[in-house]
Amino acid sequence: MVACGAINSAVLLLRSASDQHPNGLANRSDQVGRNFMKHMSTAVVALSAKPNPSVHQKTIGLNDFYWGEPDFPYPMGMVQNTGNVKGGMIPADAPPLLAPFVKFTPETVLEILAAHSTGWWLQTEDLPSADNRVRVVNGQTHLDYTPHDVEARDRLIHRWTSVIKNTDKHTKHIIPFGLYPRTLQPLAAVAHQCGTCRFGTDPDTSVLNLNCQTHDVENLYVIDGSFFPSNSGVNPTLTIVANAIRVAEHLKQRLNVASVRELSSELSMV
Ligand SMILES: Cc1cc2nc3c(=O)[nH]c(=O)nc-3n(C[C@H](O)[C@H](O)[C@H](O)COP(=O)(O)OP(=O)(O)OC[C@H]3O[C@@H](n4cnc5c(N)ncnc54)[C@H](O)[C@@H]3O)c2cc1C
Repeated sequence: MVACGAINSAVLLLRSASDQHPNGLANRSDQVGRNFMKHMSTAVVALSAKPNPSVHQKTIGLNDFYWGEPDFPYPMGMVQNTGNVKGGMIPADAPPLLAPFVKFTPETVLEILAAHSTGWWLQTEDLPSADNRVRVVNGQTHLDYTPHDVEARDRLIHRWTSVIKNTDKHTKHIIPFGLYPRTLQPLAAVAHQCGTCRFGTDPDTSVLNLNCQTHDVENLYVIDGSFFPSNSGVNPTLTIVANAIRVAEHLKQRLNVASVRELSSELSMV
């Protein structure tokens, strides 16, 4: 069972090419590494004249715009809080336009800005594409990625910014202003990586069958975020865990063992 995370599982299979599997293990279909997905994520900071005294900020998540809006009936994604904004984080996350100014801002001022901030994390699904893929070139891992559903992402950013602006409008500020700097997360932000060995019923268009067993190699399973055929706009981990439990049930039946504990001792003997 391979569970190295979507990027590294694909890399492991691609690097495991042999005479029997010249394109990489379980890659007869040339699908291993393809359909790589990640969320299009944006950090928006609502910088208000009103201080934010919250201690546990990462408690709000909402899907009000998940299925779109009347004038845009397509999925736009999810809104959630980031954790608390700290002064030291501001230079690293500042949008390019503000970065030169923030770089020379004294630490005490950054702390004051942070204390007046609320962080929002917006994430939008990007549908799979065969050209968005993990490759191994001369032993190095390459990631090809072009975002597709950018209109949905941009609409979510503008919609949510208008919501928080509207909320701020009703706040009595000592200095009446509200700033909403935002940073689109770069390619390096692959936290929600998935989809490089997608599951399906057709061995020509998928790497795994519905039990996450590879179509090509009978005793090989991939049980991490690689199996996703699409990504949704929400955090992926509970789905990855639920699927792993589902596959463990299948393996228990296949190996005819009664419990997960017996399954793991059976597997370590293998
Ligand atoms: C900063 C951050 C914040 C996140 N926040 C959230 C959140 O709030 N909610 C949410 O749902 N998800 C969140 N995620 C995403 C979540 O961590 C992943 O979706 C999830 O861990 C993926 O599970 P996985 O089993 O696919 O891979 P992983 O959890 O990445 O596990 C892969 C494991 O394989 C190991 N490995 C890699 N290569 C090899 C190799 N060649 N040989 C042996 N072992 C190897 C790795 O060390 C790792 O332990 C966050 C991720 C990050 C980075």
